[in-house]
Amino acid sequence: MNKFPRSAYIHIPFCHRRCFYCDFAVIPLGNKVESINGYGSKTINEYLNFLFKEILSIKHKSNLSTIYIGGGTPSILNPFQIRDLIGLFRENYGIDYGAEITMEVDPASFTENDLYGFINAGVNRFSLGAQSFNNQLLQNAGRRHNEVDVLKSCSWLKKAFDSGQIKSWSLDLIQNLPLCDPDKWEEDLKKTLKFSPPHVSIYDLSIENGTVFKKLFDLGELSLPNEKEVIKNSESTNNFLKNSGYTRYEISSYCLPGQQSRHNKVYWSGSGWWGFGQGSTSSPWGIKLTRPRISKGYKEWVNTQCEKNLDPSLICKDYIYRELDEKIMLGLRVKEGVNIQSIFKEQKWTREDIEINLRKLLKEWEKFIESGHLIKKGNRFYLSDPKGMELSNQVLISMFRWWDKIS
Ligand code: SF4
Repeated sequence: MNKFPRSAYIHIPFCHRRCFYCDFAVIPLGNKVESINGYGSKTINEYLNFLFKEILSIKHKSNLSTIYIGGGTPSILNPFQIRDLIGLFRENYGIDYGAEITMEVDPASFTENDLYGFINAGVNRFSLGAQSFNNQLLQNAGRRHNEVDVLKSCSWLKKAFDSGQIKSWSLDLIQNLPLCDPDKWEEDLKKTLKFSPPHVSIYDLSIENGTVFKKLFDLGELSLPNEKEVIKNSESTNNFLKNSGYTRYEISSYCLPGQQSRHNKVYWSGSGWWGFGQGSTSSPWGIKLTRPRISKGYKEWVNTQCEKNLDPSLICKDYIYRELDEKIMLGLRVKEGVNIQSIFKEQKWTREDIEINLRKLLKEWEKFIESGHLIKKGNRFYLSDPKGMELSNQVLISMFRWWDKIS
């Protein structure tokens, strides 16, 4: 089966500075970014040259139905740079009529003028990295923006959505930031709901190696919410959003009817996608390729790739299926769950192997099915909401254990 990816992720690695919880591939630029009359710093222009070269180097270009410009902080780029980026895809790949074109924006580097500049450049969906409305929590997490910036950004996005100038927007929050007690979290949810964002992403804080939070954590100086508060925060998320008409269609994603992110669904469904830019991952035909995370390495990789076209993951041969454990993991993230029989069949196992392996998997999952965290309907398995989704890691760990034993 040969399928051409219909989705592209583009990584813009620049940020003003690194937030205390973040381990992404970013280049902190400080105030350099405001130089040269707002037309972007030399570093950004140089990066865009390599990025554009990489985008053009792909041999099998075909029409795209979703584009996601993420980072880093894409709103550090000016609307002309975003217009050129989208234009490059339009001219060389083609963009479907009605395609979803999303851009992440940061409340600290975003104005209403920028919003309309980005809309004119072709963006029709925005993802606002608010993280919280609470000034103390934001400052404590190393964010540059404050509540007023978030409120202003939300009101511009709401206005643009209500007047039909954008298709959708998402407000992104981090649950369980240090010092976030249930009262503060409820406040964040109430403030969020005042703007009725069509989509809300709620990420649980995770402590990553190499971050300021990890250092503080190791020193015992990070005041994370305790277990009771974590449970209360999850309950509030569930109650507030569901009572306001939102559906949890994936572990971290909630939306009003018809407002699911089409781009994110590509990752969870097992379809292929292009990834472009420093530190980004692509998986056009099943094999993943992550580009170097540092500038020098990325630029060298682009040059070699363009000259010699060495990487087999970027050349369409045969459609290569993802690893089975990854398919189950991605399937369990979404509310529809995963049809185990059909993905077992793709493994080309004998009927006997299918039965044996299924029995072994069911043994690992028995306790989760009995406790109601995991629901089995025929051959389809899905996590219950909210109980199962909150415990997703444990269900996945047991699945990986099963996979290690049989593979
Ligand atoms: S703005 Fe986003 S990408 Fe940049 S450092 Fe902060 S969390 Fe990371």
